[in-house]
Amino acid sequence: MSDAAINTDLSGDMLAILGGTFDPVHIGHLQPVSEASKELGLEQVRLLPCHIPPHKQMPHSSPEHRLAMLELACKQWPLFVVDSRELKWNKPSYSVDTLRDFRTEFGNHLPLVFFIGMDSLCNLDSWHEWQSLFEYCHLVVCQRGDILPDFNVNIARLVSERQTDDPGALKHKACGLIYLAKTSLVPVSSTAIRTALNQGDINPAWLPAGVLDYIQQHQLYQKRA
Ligand code: ATP
Repeated sequence: MSDAAINTDLSGDMLAILGGTFDPVHIGHLQPVSEASKELGLEQVRLLPCHIPPHKQMPHSSPEHRLAMLELACKQWPLFVVDSRELKWNKPSYSVDTLRDFRTEFGNHLPLVFFIGMDSLCNLDSWHEWQSLFEYCHLVVCQRGDILPDFNVNIARLVSERQTDDPGALKHKACGLIYLAKTSLVPVSSTAIRTALNQGDINPAWLPAGVLDYIQQHQLYQKRA
C-alpha cells in the first residue's frame, strides 16, 4: 500500500490531489494532470479513489481492485501516489469532507491544489457544499472534450471571480483560486474503457500497461457468460 510512500515533508511545498472513481484508472487521468503539474512545479500528486461516489452509480470494480490498479499506475507514473483515506470511510465521498480532513492533517496554510476535469467544473454547482470548497483548496482544471465548456450562470460567475492566469499565484495563497490549465486533450473515459473491454476491443494505449494486464488477469469489466 503506497500510502507509506507519500511525501510527508511538505514544508514550503504544495499539496495536490486528484479524486476519482478510477474504475479503472486511465491515461486521461494521468497525462493532463502530469502536464499541469510540470507547469505548477508539483513534485507529487495524490490519487484519491472514492468509496461511494455521490454523483454516479456504484463502481463496477471493488475498492481492492481499483486500489491495486492505481498502485500499478503509480509504478509507471512516479509523480503519483495513492491516498486511500476515502476508502476507509463508510460514507459517500464528498470532496468537501475530504478537504477538511486534509486541513486537519496539514493545517490551514499549505497551498492545496485540487485537480478536476473540465466536465467536473461544468457540474461543480451540483457538488455538496460546492462554494465551501474554496475555503480549502485551489481548483486546477484540465481540458476534457473537444468543445468549448458551456458554463451555467453559477459556474460562469465563479470562474470570473476566482480565475487566475498565473499558475505561480497558487503558491502564494492556501486556497480560493481557479486555474484553467492548457493541458492536452486525452479523449478517453473509464466508461469508454469498460465498454471496449466488454466488447473485446480495447486500445492498449488508453491504460498503463500494468493496469491492462491486471484487468485481463482478474477478468474485470468483461461480459459474464
Ligand atoms: P466514468 O467514465 O466512469 O464517469 P471518468 O473517466 O470520468 O469515469 P473519474 O474517475 O470519474 O473518470 O474522473 C476523475 C477526475 O478525472 C474527474 O475530475 C474527471 O473530470 C477527470 N478526468 C477523467 N478523465 C479525464 C480526461 N480524459 N481528461 C481530463 N480529465 C479527466
